[in-house]
Amino acid sequence: MEAKKIRSTFIEFFQSKQHHYVPSSPIVVKNDPTLMFTNAGMNQFKDAFLGNELAKYSRVANSQKCLRVSGKHNDLEEVGVDTYHHTMFEMLGNWSFGDYFKKEAIQWAWELLTEVYGLDKDRLYVSVFQGDAGDNLGLDQEAYDLWKAIVPEDRIIMGSKKDNFWEMGDVGPCGPCSEIHVDLRPDADRALIEGKDLVNMDHEQVIEIWNLVFMQFNRVSDGSLKPLPATHVDTGMGFERLVRAIQHKSSNYDTDLFAPFLTALAKKSGKVYGEDLPTDIAFRVIVDHIRAISFTIADGQLPSNNKAGYVIRRILRRAVRYGYTFLGFQEPFLYELTSLIADNFGDIFPEVRQQQEFIAKVIFEEETSFLRTLDNGLKMLDQIKAELSEKGEKVIPGKTAFELYDTFGFPLDLTSLIARESGLSLDEKGFVQEMEAQKTRSRAASESETGDWVIVNEDNGVEFVGYDFLKAHAHIIKYRVISDKKGDKYQLVLDKTPFYAESGGQVGDTGWLISDTEKVKVINTKRENDLIVHFVEKLPANPEAAFGAEVDAEKRFLTENNHTATHLLQSALKEVLGDHIQQRGSLVNQNQLRFDFSHFSKLSDAEIAKVEDIVNEKIRQNIPLSEQRNVPIEEAKKQGATALFGEKYGDFVRVITFDKDFSVELCGGTHVPQTSKIGLFKIISEASSASGVRRIEAITAKSAEDYFRKQESLVKEIQELLKNPKDLMKSIESLLQEKNELKKELEALHLEKASGVKVELLKQFVTGEGINTLIAQLELPNADSLKKLAYELKNETENAFVILAANIDGKPQIAVIIDEDLIKSKDLNAGQIVRELAKEIQGGGGGQAFFATAGGKNLAGLENVVTKAKDLYL
Ligand code: ATP
Ligand code: MG
Repeated sequence: MEAKKIRSTFIEFFQSKQHHYVPSSPIVVKNDPTLMFTNAGMNQFKDAFLGNELAKYSRVANSQKCLRVSGKHNDLEEVGVDTYHHTMFEMLGNWSFGDYFKKEAIQWAWELLTEVYGLDKDRLYVSVFQGDAGDNLGLDQEAYDLWKAIVPEDRIIMGSKKDNFWEMGDVGPCGPCSEIHVDLRPDADRALIEGKDLVNMDHEQVIEIWNLVFMQFNRVSDGSLKPLPATHVDTGMGFERLVRAIQHKSSNYDTDLFAPFLTALAKKSGKVYGEDLPTDIAFRVIVDHIRAISFTIADGQLPSNNKAGYVIRRILRRAVRYGYTFLGFQEPFLYELTSLIADNFGDIFPEVRQQQEFIAKVIFEEETSFLRTLDNGLKMLDQIKAELSEKGEKVIPGKTAFELYDTFGFPLDLTSLIARESGLSLDEKGFVQEMEAQKTRSRAASESETGDWVIVNEDNGVEFVGYDFLKAHAHIIKYRVISDKKGDKYQLVLDKTPFYAESGGQVGDTGWLISDTEKVKVINTKRENDLIVHFVEKLPANPEAAFGAEVDAEKRFLTENNHTATHLLQSALKEVLGDHIQQRGSLVNQNQLRFDFSHFSKLSDAEIAKVEDIVNEKIRQNIPLSEQRNVPIEEAKKQGATALFGEKYGDFVRVITFDKDFSVELCGGTHVPQTSKIGLFKIISEASSASGVRRIEAITAKSAEDYFRKQESLVKEIQELLKNPKDLMKSIESLLQEKNELKKELEALHLEKASGVKVELLKQFVTGEGINTLIAQLELPNADSLKKLAYELKNETENAFVILAANIDGKPQIAVIIDEDLIKSKDLNAGQIVRELAKEIQGGGGGQAFFATAGGKNLAGLENVVTKAKDLYL
């Protein structure tokens, strides 16, 4: 069975059991401070499990894009080295939210694997949670009995808390699980050792394929377990591993999911897959990583220097480095594989096809710059090796390796490989210590602790009224404390709130909570999954009181100006530059707006002016806001609404329109009622923000006015400085012209002086046997004139040997020039001579045998240069 068919069969199987298919959520996670990337199918259903949100469907099936390269699940170092862990993989899942539980989950899993996919029952093992004394939990008897009814008892394995108790994080929903493992060894091996003994032993051929999690507890921050109000099923099956089992392969990479990539790579590198271990690992690393990189870029995460962007940059660099070291790629190569990604995954994940060109471009630029870094790192290493050999040492210190890694992005295993090749070793322990020290430093700087929610009112309905009101009557539902080095802060959730939570680039509202007895400042508002969380510096003395929740209206209005202007800007950019413009990031606050978009070249002044003109024209047209809430997503798309890649949209969306033929966007932000409120729009900068991405910063309203006023007063000041000429431009031009003329005159004077000096010097040559020597000290305006003088002295004298020690604008410089014939006949070398003499001025230099120069630090040493030269050569 082909991979595509295997995927669709999974979905269809669960659809036939009344499951609703939902598409994968983006691989890049927004609105969750605890997670950078989706690492399991359950992430997008977290709120349903936590009870923050009612599940839309009680039964769901999906294939989720997952990435396990950071945080709790980090498989990066295994990837490529083994044959069944990937960075990015698809997790197939079936879900029950308060509906069926262990019985159906177990029976259906078995039916699908053995009857539909036809896996050999004889090769499957299942595990059951054996209980844990610390958590006061016994054996999962229910699961055990259900399995016993379908598989022989000797195929059921008892699993410890480590393998068979699934937890989302330190706190949150959790429960026992049952895993299904498959033994893919050849029969001969199976006869020798029983598969059961190899389960969970990191054996390459006896691997876990499916994990059925039965959520029934919530772990709270004191570590204890509380039963969940309703029980749920969360299953995750590694798609690539399943395909391998069904296609009877001994490695995930031998399936039709990876084969086209391996073939392309073999062709490009001229190497063969399957012959030599280090080369094979490189092949696997590359065909794995290109998927992770492409999918995350498609979901809006560009490689960068921090957080999620840095994780992606590291994956990309790992691939480039393996290609460089083992497959001989010295030029960018990864980007070429993106067309295969589009071909092979575009049907189920259309985003990688739609953005293929952009993804390729971003990867190409990253590769190019990293290859340069690699090159620089190699040169640095050469220098380090030379220094070590001078000292007769054979170990590269951990600190040096860490510096290479930290400052130049130079990976440890490459340093270690090169060390080995040069007969050196590497102090890895020292490296790890440096790394730990750095981690501790950064952890100490950022550590904060989050307390449990304290429930104030048992009311779970959270209502956002901020599109229509800036004030509301509210009660606190729950609060918690956040402590860090600076002290305690609090987060509050209200039953009704006008506060807009930071999202879609727009900053969170600030304002006040006012009760009869006190006024508490709200310093920020953020979203955590589907909760709206208000940040306050102090907890209200009486949290149960009734509050007036009041948004800082002035800040909100200024922010709205910039948000609406951002929409107008995006449409204007499309008109001026073309339809390829896509939003890549945005920030909107009360001071300004920042808009990142895909485009490959710098905007010209004319293009910027045109964009400004269009936006200002739209402002003057006073276009009213048209806001539609709860529009079915399909309907919104039909209206031509612009959506963002990597944004998770629900079935119903909000559409913001300013002139239906100009700007229609899916947007959750707040906007001006009509465009004239914005007043004025001005772009203040345009620059590159990442490869293939430009960034525009702009201001509106009063800020734009202030900007023009400042420009105006600048011109006034210049005018005054120039004594108020009639024509400012003309007077600046004539100033510049005057300056140029003066410069020329000065140069002429210098020349005249130099030629006077030359005449003097020509008289000072000392004639010897077949050689005319001049050793002199002098002052000159610049280095060029020294060179020129030296050449002229040589050209105008036969058999000249000239040493000039010059004071050039307070800095000592030496020039040595020798007639070409003398180099051999008198065995003279200007380079050597200048280096020797330069010691007197604490400097260095060099050049050719006939002409060389040196600069130095010690002006007073010029005298000694002359004395020494005379001692040596006269
Ligand atoms: P393993 O012990 O093999 O790393 P796991 O216990 O980390 O697996 P789960 O977190 O239970 O796995 O994830 C559910 C399923 O996802 C696994 O049964 C497996 O099939 C698949 N899976 C997990 N990690 C990876 C990975 N890095 N690459 C591919 N598939 C994976
Ligand atoms: Mg794992």
